[in-house]
Amino acid sequence: VLRMESVRKTYGRGGTVVLRDVDLEVAPHTVTALIGASGSGKSTLLRCANLLEEIDDGAIFLDGEEITDPRVDPDAVRRRIGVVFQAYNLFPHMSVLDNVTLAPRRVHGVARAEAAERARELLARLGLDGRADEYPDRLSGGQQQRVAIARALAGRPRLLLLDEITAALDPELVGEVLRVVRDLKEDGMTMVIATHEMGFAREVADQVCFLEGGVVLERGAPGRVFGEPEHPRTRQFLQRII
Ligand code: ATP
Ligand code: MG
Repeated sequence: VLRMESVRKTYGRGGTVVLRDVDLEVAPHTVTALIGASGSGKSTLLRCANLLEEIDDGAIFLDGEEITDPRVDPDAVRRRIGVVFQAYNLFPHMSVLDNVTLAPRRVHGVARAEAAERARELLARLGLDGRADEYPDRLSGGQQQRVAIARALAGRPRLLLLDEITAALDPELVGEVLRVVRDLKEDGMTMVIATHEMGFAREVADQVCFLEGGVVLERGAPGRVFGEPEHPRTRQFLQRII
């Protein structure tokens, strides 16, 4: 679904390298977990995949199409990719239903009734039935984050990028959001997840990538990367956080 080839990303005039020769292959219906210390480049990688950042070198492919080709319309690419960030960024002045149906109606040109029906289905699936007419500030953080996931799914994306979606939540609310991600995996959703929840990464991921200083130092099946890390830096990182 997603492929990155020798992606290089620098910031600013000094050219601080944030991603260095990153290769990534995300197969359909799989979950890729990006782990690594703060500043290692996880969010930047996701932002590049969604064309929120321009890369300096390399190429990114979505379903075989090179999306980093300058002739490609970034908005059309973003319509095929759902994103959820740490801060849920719901529109506070809009109901849950309007938050979820906004993009399908405005961007995808879906009729109001159809968008609403799809939104209600999604909300029900995410355990939010009966919440459609509420405003975000009436919901808990976990509920708001689930609305953000519903919003990301509303456009029927090919790929879902999740960046630390539980980091801002109270511990007791983390579980309900992780459950949703588990369910999406069951449904075959292809996802790339940046996370500090190692237990969850181990459980849900098909592939784990350990980043340090913008380099994918190690990758593999979760059992292998967590159980027998090859790289000393991976071992150090895992020891420090467990
Ligand atoms: P965290 O776990 O804290 O979310 P991360 O792995 O997501 O960290 P990034 O946010 O991708 O890390 O940041 C990687 C590096 O890029 C950091 O050194 C950061 O300071 C730098 N960086 C990120 N965004 C910008 C920006 N807009 N301008 C300049 N430098 C940036
Ligand atoms: Mg980040």
